[in-house]
Amino acid sequence: MHLMADLKKELHEQVKRRRTFAIISHPDAGKTTLTEKLLLYGGAINLAGSVKARKAKKYAVSDWMEIEKQRGISVTSSVMQFEYKGYCINILDTPGHQDFSEDTYRTLVAADSAVMLIDGAKGVEAQTIKLFHVCKMRGIPIFTFINKLDRAIKNPFDLMQEIEDVLGIRSYPMNWPIGTDGDFKGVYNRKLKQIELFTGGNHGQTIVESKAGSVDDPVFRELLGEPYYSRLVEDIELLNIAGDDFNLKEVLEGNLTPIFFGSAMTNFGVEPFLEEFLEMAPPPGERVFTDTVIEPEMEEFYGFIFKIQANMNPNHRDRVAFLRICSGKFTKGMEVYLSNGNKKIRLSQPQQIMAQEREIVEEAWPGDIIGLYDPGIFKIGDTLSTAKPSALFTGMPMFPAEHFARISPKDTMKRKQFLKGIMQLSEEGTIQVFRQVDIGGEEFIVGAVGMLQFDVLEHRLLHEYNVELKVVMLPHKFARWLVTTDKDPRDLNLTSSTLIAQDKNEQYVLIFENQWSIDWAKEKNKGIELSDVSG
Ligand code: GDP
Repeated sequence: MHLMADLKKELHEQVKRRRTFAIISHPDAGKTTLTEKLLLYGGAINLAGSVKARKAKKYAVSDWMEIEKQRGISVTSSVMQFEYKGYCINILDTPGHQDFSEDTYRTLVAADSAVMLIDGAKGVEAQTIKLFHVCKMRGIPIFTFINKLDRAIKNPFDLMQEIEDVLGIRSYPMNWPIGTDGDFKGVYNRKLKQIELFTGGNHGQTIVESKAGSVDDPVFRELLGEPYYSRLVEDIELLNIAGDDFNLKEVLEGNLTPIFFGSAMTNFGVEPFLEEFLEMAPPPGERVFTDTVIEPEMEEFYGFIFKIQANMNPNHRDRVAFLRICSGKFTKGMEVYLSNGNKKIRLSQPQQIMAQEREIVEEAWPGDIIGLYDPGIFKIGDTLSTAKPSALFTGMPMFPAEHFARISPKDTMKRKQFLKGIMQLSEEGTIQVFRQVDIGGEEFIVGAVGMLQFDVLEHRLLHEYNVELKVVMLPHKFARWLVTTDKDPRDLNLTSSTLIAQDKNEQYVLIFENQWSIDWAKEKNKGIELSDVSG
């Protein structure tokens, strides 16, 4: 009894202090730079170095095969954990550039909140929009950091409008920039009613001193001079009158995003952001599994696999399955049931993946991510639990593929290996596999979020299954799952280029060339409902 009480207490403490989040941004907005600065505050200097080292390994797709050979597919996302003022922080890395793939999306399913990083001069960009929508779908809180304030940025009111128009979320600036035309002076902190001056130049790790007061404090006039002082007073007045009120509940429900202006590179506003963020962002919350809501403080252990990384170590050709812990305490060597299986498996080589280094994990808590050695038994969305029968994780949809190809084996004698390889890679989540209705044999349609996934597919089929692929790219761009229809999909009125297929769960999917064909399908078929994600 005593031990149980201790465990409950420790669970409570550990859950409360955990923050697990992902940074969503468009390439070059400054994610690497911001991550490094955050790690520095956690005292993880070595790690900060390794983030940069990883970043330095930018490569063209043509170089990628060599890298895959040397290091495995380690270009996919990993996690960084560090401590700061009593908090235990897990940052999930979301790969961008040509590494952008379904893994990038799936990582967001493991996060409890997101930091949306925006280049102040560029505003809301394409990749940010895609990632934002996944966060929105999940209803997680989103915190915005507008970066590169040391340079000229767009008008901050315009940026707020853009966020609302493009992303459909209201915003609340926590601070307000002074001098946005390349003449940055600092920010006015609306909560503390103080000005945080930008001294610039030192690219420092130092926090800039603040002078307390209210916005129309004459001290500020002296400090800022004109036209900055009057402009600031006007802006703040406008925000107070016309802007949204701050409301934490709205933030937590994902309807309002707090905005922080700063500059990651010059380290301006990063620590104040971190502190506010940690206070507002939620600790690991409940997760809905089949029939059950899993509360993090439950003693029963639950977690789900959100990503599988193949052969990180070329000598062993092993795979690592990434597990997000949802409830209970994880200890090394513990035995759990795998999804609906009857046999317990022992988790004997848990690892924490920090940048390129691996460390053995002795124990871990809800919100944490651990890497499990995978001899080929796990698949994306699997539940690991001490409970039997286990409730299953249901929150792992298939994400909208944007590239499609028809694939078949070059050598028809290799049919068996081909099928095995395709099924395995589909289970792993490397690609989405569809079978076109009325077309049998060894031809499949594969969909991917990023083009790199096709290279991975070809390479892995050749090297792991000894199958040379014939790949014919299709002009199609959109997959839409058929949610409701009382008709056989073959009887639908569709444009001639629209393909009717089934996913691996035999759900019907329509694959379209363009938006026009989607609109056609909706218009000509009353009551049809299409979704861009499965499940
Ligand atoms: P990522 O692609 O999002 O990881 O972006 P990086 O962190 O690599 O940054 C992209 C570029 O923007 C680099 O040249 C950075 O030095 C630069 N950068 C990042 N933060 C700032 C900033 O606050 N101000 C300025 N002027 N440049 C920045």
